[in-house]
Amino acid sequence: MNSDNVKVNLLDFDRAAMAAWFEARGEKPFRARQVLKWIHQQGVDSFDAMTNLGKALRTALESVAEVRALDVATDRKSSDGSRKWLFRLADGNCIESVYIPEPERATLCISSQIGCALNCSFCSTARQGYNRNLSTAEIIGQLWMVSRLLREDGSVPVSNVVFMGMGEPLLNFDNVIRATRLMQDDFAYALSKRRVTLSTAGVVPGLRQLAEVTDISLALSLHAPDDKLRSELVPLNKKYAIREVLQACTDYVGEGRRRVTIEYVMLDGVNDSDKQAKALARLLRRVPSKVNLIPFNPFPNTRYRRSCAERIDRFRDILHHAGIVTITRRTRGDDIEAACGQLAGDFRDRTRRRERLAVEVNGELI
Ligand code: SAH
Repeated sequence: MNSDNVKVNLLDFDRAAMAAWFEARGEKPFRARQVLKWIHQQGVDSFDAMTNLGKALRTALESVAEVRALDVATDRKSSDGSRKWLFRLADGNCIESVYIPEPERATLCISSQIGCALNCSFCSTARQGYNRNLSTAEIIGQLWMVSRLLREDGSVPVSNVVFMGMGEPLLNFDNVIRATRLMQDDFAYALSKRRVTLSTAGVVPGLRQLAEVTDISLALSLHAPDDKLRSELVPLNKKYAIREVLQACTDYVGEGRRRVTIEYVMLDGVNDSDKQAKALARLLRRVPSKVNLIPFNPFPNTRYRRSCAERIDRFRDILHHAGIVTITRRTRGDDIEAACGQLAGDFRDRTRRRERLAVEVNGELI
């Protein structure tokens, strides 16, 4: 045991890290694969249950390592079958994950950070401020816990993972990538590259780096066809403008990674006009892409409203006519605040954004 009694959390290790760890302990690297399978495929968190390891090894592991996932703070089921968990982390902060079963697949929407630093004006996570990056164990721990809970229930297992919960995944690059390696690993979750999607607000250096290390699917939160409006909605746009972001996405998907999903939240009277649909179509002409229109999900004290269904249909039709595959994302789980942009978690804000916003709301600046 380490002198300070802190055990290694094996959920932090992808296969390479696990193999290196076993090797450093004088064990054969294949132990890594055995242990990965027990942990991620069988949902096991006790070494005693790992019956193909000798008793001596199990005892040795027990004294230095553990499989420490997350505590369930709340577990809510929507009338539409989706389910949202609030997970409590060791430091007391809470994050959210959402399970969305559909006829063809079951998607888990996971968080990559506690809160978010990007402050997009239409997102409720932004209101909560930011605390810190999640560790690899806390990211994969969401999938590990949910898979275990679904198994207990006899529910359909997770077939797809999307990084569309709290946080900006490209600002937590290394931990997110390590977690995606486990998702894709045949000895862990064995999800194909099409079934793991990273959604970003457009962190260009992160996109460039991503192309070098992975082939997972990519979604871009675009939300506006011009820089002026996009900078209002997604302040990160002031740093990385639309053209540069779309170029980075095009380069990423260019190398056999199919198409980037363009996410576009439909805000009444803000970004949903015919003119804006046409401008969006022009912008995407040379980007291998498909568009996901997301009806805005309201939250308290927001100045935005959802575009009406007719407007969304008309916007979609304009994109269709321009030859762009466009679907409208069905709102799921809104009765349990589990819909896109409604994830709020429960954590200490280090940015004091919440306090500043409270002042603005009371002063009716919002
Ligand atoms: N930071 C990443 C991932 C988290 S957001 C990103 O920006 O892509 C996941 C998706 O939900 C994004 O497309 C985001 O723009 C969208 N979203 C945020 N708030 C929303 C709201 N109130 N209604 C609908 N979609 C929202």
